[in-house]
This record gives sequence, C-alpha cells and structure tokens, in this order.
Amino acid sequence: MTAAPPNAPQGAAPLGSAPPGSAPLGSAPPGSAAPVAPAAAQVELLPALQDNYIFVLHNGVEAVVVDPAVGEPVVAWLRRQGLRLNALLHTHHHADHIGGAPALLAAWPEARVYAAAADRDRIPHQTDGVRHGKVFTLLGRQVRVLEVPGHTRAHVAYHLPAQAPGQREELFCGDTLFAGGCGRLFEGTAEQMHASLARLAALPEATRVWCAHEYTEGNLRWAAAEAPDDAAIADRLAAVRALRQAGTPTIPSTVAEERRTNLFVRARDGRELAALRESKNDWRG
Ligand SMILES: [Zn+2]
Repeated sequence: MTAAPPNAPQGAAPLGSAPPGSAPLGSAPPGSAAPVAPAAAQVELLPALQDNYIFVLHNGVEAVVVDPAVGEPVVAWLRRQGLRLNALLHTHHHADHIGGAPALLAAWPEARVYAAAADRDRIPHQTDGVRHGKVFTLLGRQVRVLEVPGHTRAHVAYHLPAQAPGQREELFCGDTLFAGGCGRLFEGTAEQMHASLARLAALPEATRVWCAHEYTEGNLRWAAAEAPDDAAIADRLAAVRALRQAGTPTIPSTVAEERRTNLFVRARDGRELAALRESKNDWRG
C-alpha cells in the first residue's frame, strides 16, 4: 500500500485513509466539468502496492472491482463505504491484477468473476469466461470485452459505453495501454500490441482510460527524450510532473490524449512499435 498522497483529488482516496462514509462519490479528473447523475455508477481509484491502481465501479450500494492487486484493504474499504461486492473484472493473470481475489471472494462468495476464457488455467475463481465481443451488464452499465494481446497472450480490456446524459465512456485496459506508454511484450508480438493499441485508440475520444499503473511521468520523460521537438508531449510532461509533485494520480487519461501524445499509439506499424519498445526497455533516464 502506498502512503496517502498529501493532496489526493476527489475520488482518489488512498486505501486505509478515508474515515467511514467520507470518501466523495465521483472521480472527475481535473478540468472535467461533466456532471454525473447521482444514481449513475461511479469509478473510484485506489492506489495499491508500489504503483498499482485498483478501480471500483459502484452505485452507492453495489461495487465492481477491477484488477484487485490486494484483497483485505479493498474489503475494508468497501465495508467502510457500505458497498457489497457484485463482481470482479480481471484484465490478465499477473499477480498484481488477481492477487486480491481470494480475500474479496471470501467476504462476498456470491460475486461473479469475469476474466478471459482463454486464461481459465491461470486466473482462478472464474465464473464467467469472456471472449472478444462479449457484452454483459453490471450495475446497469453495459460492459464490452475487447481482446488486446501483447502484454500477455490472453489480455482483455473492458469498455463501458456511455448510455445516458452525463455518463462517461470508461475503459479498463490493465497493462496494455498506459498513459503515455504501453505494457511490456511478455507473451505477444509488437504486431499484436500495435493492433491492440489501435483497437483501444479507436474508441470515442472522450473515453476515460483507467490503466493499472502510475507509470505516466516515466513514460513521458522517455517520450520527450525520444521526440524532443514534440510540443504536445512536452506540455503533457509538464502537466504530469505538476500532478505528481502534488501527489495526485495522473489516471484517468483519455483516448484523445493518448492519440495525441502516446508514441506507441502513434506508431504506424508493428515494426515502429518494436523499435520504440526496445528504446523504452533500454532507457535509464
Ligand atoms: Zn501485467
């Protein structure tokens, strides 16, 4: 668990710090003025471990937890908010995305567990194996499954389209698309990652991108070194540095922001992405 940031934004209360019932609903990013209906499901961001984020979609009564890196602190957080676990969503099998499942399921054994059917052997407790194109409903929100291999061979992302005025498009993309970066290619090719990023970048521009790690500043420092004349990247790096100095998460970003300033998203093909990935892997800036 990370220490409480001194200036956590609304909706980003770190685990273990919020007194009962005090965490504000809603998690509008800085500068967002979009009103959200009180009954609409909201996304909360919970920092965990070194640099993980766990996301909680909830409507004030029930909660869906995305990529629980840890268990007990999330159970405690949900109990403090008076929330009941409805479902878990896993994007891939790595321990910092599924490790909290046993504790959460011990507390709420009836919760559904959604994960890639192709990873049934590596993601235990699955009740609902999903494949590309699968659509289901949680807390009144439609959830669309996108297969996005590259980081792992069976990585999936979950896209929640906007269905009502004031609702935001949400994307939970695990370790595939990062703010300013992309996941390492542990089990996939650069071509697969290129296609996966293209699939995510094709979502509506306003879609909020909830990626699972706070890697943004390092990603943009590398990008600024790689593309020193790119003003959009320089501007974003300055904004992200200010956020981090204030202890504020840089997540969520948006699809529009990633299209504009993410070199991996901007790569024209797998070959260019492979060269960028190699450069980033070797970067010690
Ligand atoms: Zn991972």
